[in-house]
Amino acid sequence: MRGFGTTIFAEMSALAVQTGSINLGQGFPDTDGPAAMLDRAIQAITSGANQYPPGPGTPELRRAVSEHRAEHYGLSYDPAGEILITVGATEAVAASVLALCEPGDEVIAFEPYYDSYAASIALAQARLVAVTMRPVAGRFTFDPDELRAAVTPRTRAILVNSPHNPTGTVFTREELTAIADLCRERDLVAITDEVYEHLTFDGVEHISLATLPGMRERTVAISSAGKTFSVTGWKTGWVCAPAPLVTAVQTVKQFLTFTASAPWQLAVAYGLRQELEWVAALRSGLQDKRDRLMEGLAAAGFEVLRPAGTYFVQTDIRPLGFADGLELTRRLPELAGVVAIPTQVFYDHPERGRHFVRFAFCKKDEVIDEAVTRLKRLSGA
Ligand code: PMP
Ligand code: GLN
Repeated sequence: MRGFGTTIFAEMSALAVQTGSINLGQGFPDTDGPAAMLDRAIQAITSGANQYPPGPGTPELRRAVSEHRAEHYGLSYDPAGEILITVGATEAVAASVLALCEPGDEVIAFEPYYDSYAASIALAQARLVAVTMRPVAGRFTFDPDELRAAVTPRTRAILVNSPHNPTGTVFTREELTAIADLCRERDLVAITDEVYEHLTFDGVEHISLATLPGMRERTVAISSAGKTFSVTGWKTGWVCAPAPLVTAVQTVKQFLTFTASAPWQLAVAYGLRQELEWVAALRSGLQDKRDRLMEGLAAAGFEVLRPAGTYFVQTDIRPLGFADGLELTRRLPELAGVVAIPTQVFYDHPERGRHFVRFAFCKKDEVIDEAVTRLKRLSGA
């Protein structure tokens, strides 16, 4: 694991603290989740939910996840055997890759990709094969022919993250159909990272890949409470898949952490059942914040790409006279008192992402406004 070093999120958050900069790097909100759900966690602790929950997860949460998948996607998963609670989506992805891949297997992921994918694939001694997403008409997408060409006899799985971090793309039915066709034809497993499933904008709806014909039986669907309820520190996630796949993932998971988060599991079960109106308000508030930050970044001289989901907006830094996002983000605290994330670190082909920088908008309006004021120093705007 030597090559993996420290994650860009840790590096940039430390830089923000050290320099007193505004942190639009690591994606975490600066406001809390629904008050009644937080109270439910406190109540769970004071009423004794403090010992190991069962390995597959607390039954209440498994039932709540099952109801949620049924209600939102029309998919039925048995809480006894088809749902596993994990320590965030991060553990769910790691355990899935470790469970399903043999050394030498290939896993396709769309670059720029979330950084833990490469690490999980390396831990499994499998090989990541990156298919590049590029902006087309202001939105990052992939070429279906390139995807098809990336499949080899060693391909085991495709990791599909939609809504997509770090580009903000929400895959369309057409894009998902191209992926699903390939999975069926080439007998691949899809591992779907849906942590931003509720955070979509402009009326765009998240489509779960498992809802496409023939996909439920070959999809490991992953989500987590962190983004949906603004509790990224709770690290409570889940896997929904057919029983043989869940059994394999659970076999790995039990030796990573066995189980975790007893009080949070009860609180998240409450959230999934009672707080989806709160989530709807979060989503519309985030859309306003997206617009606020996009407008500000454009006024500061960046070329801005409009995300349809997530916490993040991608910018092209070339109009400001910069060429390298990593160089710029390392200097940004000194130049402007702001921290952002260089997109190139999420590529196997970093040159393809060199001129992109990611900014997070899951912040209070006044924080966004102050960041924009500071970023205007870059161009003297
Ligand atoms: N996948 C993606 C795409 C993410 O952005 C994140 C960060 N929230 C995760 C997984 C990790 O989620 P968790 O905090 O639930 O482990
Ligand atoms: N998902 C968050 C992001 O993309 C960060 C999570 C982390 O720090 N690993 O900013």
